[in-house]
Amino acid sequence: MSNYTNFTLSIDADAIAHVKMDIQDSSVNLMRRAVMTELGQLMQDVAAMPHINGMIFSSSKKMGFVYGADIREFDLLQTEEDVKTLVQLAHNALAAIETLPFPTCCLIDGIALGGGLEIALPFDHIIALDGPKTQIGFPEIQLGLMPGFAGTGRVVERVGVAKALDMCLSGKALPADQALAAGLVDGLAKDKDALLEAGFAALKQPISRRKPDTAQDIKSAIAHAEANYLAGHIKEQLPAPFLIIDHFKAAAGVPKQLILNEQIVFPKLMMSEASYHLRRVYRMRDAVRKTARGDIAISKVHVIGAGTMGGDIAMHCAMQGFQTSLTDTNHQAINEACTRARALFERRLKQQDIIKAATERLIADPENQHIATADIIIEAASERIELKRSIFMDIERKAKPDAILATNTSSILIEDIASCLSTPSRLIGLHFFNPATVMPLVEVIAGEQSDPMVLDQAMYFAGALKKMPIKVKSSKGFLVNRALLPYIFTAIDQISAGLDADKIDEAMLRFGMPMGPIELADQIGLDVCYDVGQVIGISKQAEAALSAQLALGRLGRKTGQGFYPWDKKTAIRPRDTYEAAGLDILAKELLEPLITECRAAVAEGVVASEDDADIGCILGIGFPPHRGGPLGWANYQD
Ligand code: NAD
Repeated sequence: MSNYTNFTLSIDADAIAHVKMDIQDSSVNLMRRAVMTELGQLMQDVAAMPHINGMIFSSSKKMGFVYGADIREFDLLQTEEDVKTLVQLAHNALAAIETLPFPTCCLIDGIALGGGLEIALPFDHIIALDGPKTQIGFPEIQLGLMPGFAGTGRVVERVGVAKALDMCLSGKALPADQALAAGLVDGLAKDKDALLEAGFAALKQPISRRKPDTAQDIKSAIAHAEANYLAGHIKEQLPAPFLIIDHFKAAAGVPKQLILNEQIVFPKLMMSEASYHLRRVYRMRDAVRKTARGDIAISKVHVIGAGTMGGDIAMHCAMQGFQTSLTDTNHQAINEACTRARALFERRLKQQDIIKAATERLIADPENQHIATADIIIEAASERIELKRSIFMDIERKAKPDAILATNTSSILIEDIASCLSTPSRLIGLHFFNPATVMPLVEVIAGEQSDPMVLDQAMYFAGALKKMPIKVKSSKGFLVNRALLPYIFTAIDQISAGLDADKIDEAMLRFGMPMGPIELADQIGLDVCYDVGQVIGISKQAEAALSAQLALGRLGRKTGQGFYPWDKKTAIRPRDTYEAAGLDILAKELLEPLITECRAAVAEGVVASEDDADIGCILGIGFPPHRGGPLGWANYQD
C-alpha cells in the first residue's frame, strides 16, 4: 500500500497507520526538500483515508531517528526568498501532521537533532528510547542558524521560553532523561518493542502541554539568555545569538508568532556570512574525520622525551586506550609526567576503574626497554637536530623493523633527521600542539621519503587518539607555524613602529581570535618565537625587538614578563577601548602575512587544499570558525 520513496505506510488491524521514514540513498534520515514534499503529500493522503484511529511515526534506519536537515541543500540556496520557500514547504508539511484528525505519536529511537526534532514536535505525543544513543536538540547555532522548520514555536509549547532559548543558543543536545524532565518528550521506553507499545498506549492518552509562560517568565528568560550568550560576540560578525533572542522577544514567546517569524529570521541567518563560513567549516571537519578513519596495526606506543610535549602525548595515548611506555634520560621528568597523568585521568575519566586502567596503561620506562616491542615510537626530546639524529639511530637499532617512527619536532625538516636512517621511509612527523591533551590538531608531516602507507597509518592513529589530523609536506614551519609566526612578527613590527601592544591585541580579539598576537607571543615564549624566526625567517625589526626582550631576561609568561607583565597565567594589559573601525583596518593588516603564507602553502603543495589550510588554522591557531579560516575569509572579502 506504499507508493512513497522515502516513507512506508501500512495500516494495522486496529486501523492505526504506521508511517516509517527511510529516505532514499542515505544511511541516515535527513530532512531534504523532496522528503518534506513527500511528507506533506503523505499526510494529506492519510488524512483523507476513512476510519483511521491513529498514527505512529518512526524511523526504519539502523542508525538514529532523523539527523537533521541536509545541509548540502542549504548551500544551493541563493537568496532569502529561496530560503523562505524552503521554510514554507517545511512548515506546511509539518502543519499537516499537527492537523490530522486522529491521535498521533512519534517514536524517537536515537538521534533527533535540528530538523529531526522539528519533525517530531507536531505529533500529539513523543516517546523516546531510553538509552545513551538518544540525543535530542537544536544544534543549528553551530552553523550560525536557528531552528527554521517551526521548531522555535513548537518547542516553546513543550518546554517553555527559557529552556527553548537555552536549547537554541547552546546547541547542546539533551539525553533521554533530561528530554523527559524538560517535557520535550512525553515518555521513555527501554527498547524498540517497548517503544512501540508505549506508542500505542500514548494514542489513548490526552495531549499534555505545559501552561504558557507569563510575561514575567518570558522577560526573565530573555534577560538570562542575553547575559549568558551574548558576551564576547559582535552582532555584525555572528548574528545568530542576537537574532534568536530578538526573535523570541518580538514574538513575546507566542508559539504561532514564533513559527510565522521564522520565515523572516531563518532566511536572514542562512544568508549571513557567518553561517556561510560555519557550514563550510562543518564540512571541512567532517572531511578531516573521514581521512582519520581506518584500521591501524598499532597497539603499543613508546614515547621518548617526557617533557612538556612527550609527557602529555604519552598520557593522552594511554587515556585513549593505547599501552604507552615513556622514557627520558632525566628520570625525574618521567616521574613528573606520571604524576601529571594521574591528575589528568582523575579529572577527565572520573570513574575509578577507568582511571586505574588508564594509569596501568602508562608505563614509566626509564631503561627504555619497551622500545623493542612498540608499534609506533614518538620522539619528543629537546629540539636539537644532532640529539634527534642520535636518538633515531638508536631507535633503528632497537625497534621492531616495521615499527613506525615519528618525531614531534616543530621546526626540523623530516629529511634532515631521516638521512641518518637506513630505512628513512618509515619516519614521519607527528606534530602535536601544546597542550597535547587539549589541542585537537595534529600535523602529520610527510618527508620526501616517507612511505604513504606509514602516513595513512599515522592519520588513522591520530584519529584513534580522537585528534584531527591534516597531512602536511615537510617544509619550514610546516603549516601552522609557517602561518602563525609571520603574523606574530608583523604584530611585533607594529610595536616597533610605535603602535600600542594592547591596541594590536584588541584588534585581533575584536576579529574573533581567542588571544591577540602579542599576548600569544608572550604565552609561547619570546625565546621560542625568536628560534622559530631563525628557521622560517623574521623581519629585522621583530628580530631586534625580540633580542632586546631576551637580553633583559624577559621571555614572556614563563619569566613573568615579556611584552606584558604577567600575573601567573594572566597577562596584565590595559584592555582599553578603541574605535571599532580603526581596529578592523588594523586586523586586516595584521592578517595579511597569515593569509599570504596559507596561500603559498597551498600553491607549494605543503597542504593539499585551501580547506586543509583553513581547518589547520582554525584548529591549530584558534582562527574564528565563523570567519571561515584565513583563506575562506579572504576569499569572501574579494
Ligand atoms: P621539554 O624541554 O619540555 O622536554 C624535552 C625532554 O627531552 C626533556 O625532559 C629532556 O630530558 C628529554 N631528553 C633530552 N635528551 C633526551 C634523550 N637523549 N633521550 C630521551 N629524552 C631526552 O621540551 P618540549 O617542549 O616537550 O619539546 C619536545 C619536542 O616537541 C621538541 O622537538 C619541540 O620542538 C616539540 N614541540 C614543542 C611544543 C611546545 O609548545 N613546547 C609544541 C610542539 C612541538
